[in-house]
Amino acid sequence: MAFPIRRQTVPVQVGHVLIGGGAPIVVQSMTNTDTADIASTVRQVTDLARAGSELVRITVNTSEAAAAVPHIREQLDKAGVNVPLVGDFHFNGHKLLHEHPACAEALAKLRINPGNVGRGAKRDSQFAEMIEVACRYQRPVRIGVNWGSLDQDLLTRLMDENSAREAPWDTMEVVREAIVVSAIESAARAVELGLPREFILLSAKVSGIQDLISIYQNLANRCDYALHLGLTEAGMGSKGIVASSAAMGVLLQQGIGDTIRVSLTPEPNGDRTREVIVAQELLQTMGLRAFTPLVVACPGCGRTTSTYFQELAQNIQSHLRTRMSHWKTQYVGVESLSVAVMGCVVNGPGESKHANIGISLPGTGERPVAPVYEDGEKTVTLKGDRIAEEFQELLENYIARKYPARI
Ligand code: SF4
Repeated sequence: MAFPIRRQTVPVQVGHVLIGGGAPIVVQSMTNTDTADIASTVRQVTDLARAGSELVRITVNTSEAAAAVPHIREQLDKAGVNVPLVGDFHFNGHKLLHEHPACAEALAKLRINPGNVGRGAKRDSQFAEMIEVACRYQRPVRIGVNWGSLDQDLLTRLMDENSAREAPWDTMEVVREAIVVSAIESAARAVELGLPREFILLSAKVSGIQDLISIYQNLANRCDYALHLGLTEAGMGSKGIVASSAAMGVLLQQGIGDTIRVSLTPEPNGDRTREVIVAQELLQTMGLRAFTPLVVACPGCGRTTSTYFQELAQNIQSHLRTRMSHWKTQYVGVESLSVAVMGCVVNGPGESKHANIGISLPGTGERPVAPVYEDGEKTVTLKGDRIAEEFQELLENYIARKYPARI
């Protein structure tokens, strides 16, 4: 299999997590709690971290939120949740960081949106104040441009330059250029202000897939900063998942992207950790990282008329996710395990043989038996009402036998 050659980027250390410089692509997420509500934020950060988020971003938008940050860090540390926290600042970030030094200290990284640091004459000084805090506390900064809040002065300047061209670009091309220039010029300004290059990451988010791909390709060609990938306002449910995967999949395949966030709008009362699972599955299905054993399941067809097959596939996938936190502490390399759950004899035995361990269930009208394959060999045939439980036991035994114990 040909894996993408990762673009060479400047490595950035965020707490204990390394981003860029060839390090594994980092999965991150963001809370949607009111940061001033310490208990809810601690709970959600913990859930996101336990789901596999390696960095968690929290909004720091008010004095109460900034005051809460050190308490959130303290409670997470007490609970053994050491995930680095990233503070998301807009408009009043310079003021909050100045008034709440403990907030800056508790954060592992600052996110600054150059389009939202202030208007007119205040913009440069407020940006400088935030960079000065980052330098003082030695905290890396993500310069996160978003087209919804693009620096209007810069856009006007580029629009004026464009009008003077012999063959002016179309408006959207100028907007895309402005997004890239905003990120690159802001990074250059931060360096001038004393922030080392290895303390800078860039992002440039838009909501259109083709725009996102074009902007990141351009950014990747024009700088060597580590890049945070994400499609902004990706949307809800399957649309959000498909859009994020399509956009980021293309870029990741070109070796672009050092950390990713999948921005899903949760369903009402939906689980925020879904964005973490989707990000992990995107990286794992592309073969870029392994997080948890993946189940290869056939889609089912007219040969699988009962729900038994879907239930077993779901049951095995959730068993793998639940048990993974334990297995990871016990066995080396278990996250790369592959499991096949197939619906009938057409492709079942073949696909099961390709997995580390696989089961081929009986299709409609087939004998009620389920052969199990381990490393390509049929080892046992399960029958009766306890096929799911017995397969889980075989899975546990396989893992204990095949993966070296952690010492
Ligand atoms: S393996 Fe069998 S049940 Fe599954 S999709 Fe193929 S033919 Fe249908």
